[in-house]
Amino acid sequence: MQNPFENALNQIKRANIAKSFPSELIDRLMHPDRQVRISIPVIMDDGSQKIFEGYRVEHNNKRGPYKGGIRFHQDADMNEVNALALWMTLKCAVANIPMGGGKGGVTVDPKILSASELEKLSRGWARLMAPLLGPEKDVPAPDVNTNGEIMSWMLDEYEKITGEMSGATFTGKPISNRGSEGREEATSIGGLYVFNALRENLHLEGSLNVVVQGLGNVGGNAALLFEADGHKIISLSDSRGAILNEDGLDVKAVMGFKKQTGSVVGFPGSKEISQNELLTLACDVLIPSALENQITIENAKDIKAKLVLELANGPTTPEADDVLFAKGIYVVPDILANSGGVTVSTFEWEQNLKNEKWTKEEVLEKLKAKMEKEAVNVLDYSRNNNTDLRRGAFIVAMERLS
Ligand code: NAD
Repeated sequence: MQNPFENALNQIKRANIAKSFPSELIDRLMHPDRQVRISIPVIMDDGSQKIFEGYRVEHNNKRGPYKGGIRFHQDADMNEVNALALWMTLKCAVANIPMGGGKGGVTVDPKILSASELEKLSRGWARLMAPLLGPEKDVPAPDVNTNGEIMSWMLDEYEKITGEMSGATFTGKPISNRGSEGREEATSIGGLYVFNALRENLHLEGSLNVVVQGLGNVGGNAALLFEADGHKIISLSDSRGAILNEDGLDVKAVMGFKKQTGSVVGFPGSKEISQNELLTLACDVLIPSALENQITIENAKDIKAKLVLELANGPTTPEADDVLFAKGIYVVPDILANSGGVTVSTFEWEQNLKNEKWTKEEVLEKLKAKMEKEAVNVLDYSRNNNTDLRRGAFIVAMERLS
């Protein structure tokens, strides 16, 4: 497996070749401000104690407080968190929001924890990280395998320790606990706004065939939204496998089936295919919404989608980028495509700080205007610098950071 931090550093170097930046900026971006590793003790249900390794990387706060999600995954490690934190710095700059970049994680497969073990682990992370956190310092949010309920536990722990009401310290909270309307689906709807702002320019008109990898928060909502927007979802997957129906899948029904059985595999009327077959299907739009390193030098030559909309972070390696670019396949990069999530997280932070409550219509209207503007900006930068959309997005971000 390729090191995602090496890939992220490589992306910086490649953008710097397309347009040269001061070496001071490049050096700063290549070195996270702070990398914290913690050991979280949890008393398991059987009475034994287990220690879990946790992380927070504060990459850069030149434009605002460190901001970024917390991932619970068996493969999470400092390299992955470093990469995700660096991408957050660039993403917040591309989205032009007043936030810096950070990310957190715990090495754990949460599927094997009971609800009470998961709660103890989440509270333990917040307790040990509390000195770093705060609305003006560092503001975490959900990522893979974390959600609004986990943010509520963490916020509760943080407020007990500090003795302050501090809703703006965590975003992605449930609406009933100081969360924002629209946050749950923000990443996916932001991706749809970006896609719609670019599609005409990229010659993708009419109803399209769409493939979505990963059926979690981001992938599930993306599949529902693209289907509702008139497109045909022909293939879906989760960590257990992938399914195909060239006539189109009923996304809501697949999600209901997954809820009942634990996987999309076996959905009536669909054919099971491999994860790699899903990625290389003939389709118009491929939406990776799971993990890093999915489109690599090994399978890039077989990708047949006309456009890849990166709702996951880091799904395409730099070497694969070159192959896709040479084949004329557009890649809408993660730091633009999935920036709707952190944008609405920032709206949530702002509402908490001002003690306001915006309606869903207000949130989505603000999000749409931002996503459309920044998507066209990235397209202009990539065309003006004669390069791909990823380098275009990096150049926009790096100009704003310098
Ligand atoms: P999630 O935990 O809700 O869902 C992850 C999904 O990916 C699950 O359905 C899981 O089964 C699937 N999956 C895991 N490994 C897989 C594999 N090898 N092949 C296929 N599917 C696999 O997580 P999420 O919040 O939806 O995040 C997904 C991606 O989007 C991540 O890269 C994350 O960093 C990125 N992202 C999330 C947000 C957010 O707001 N949640 C914002 C920006 C970017």
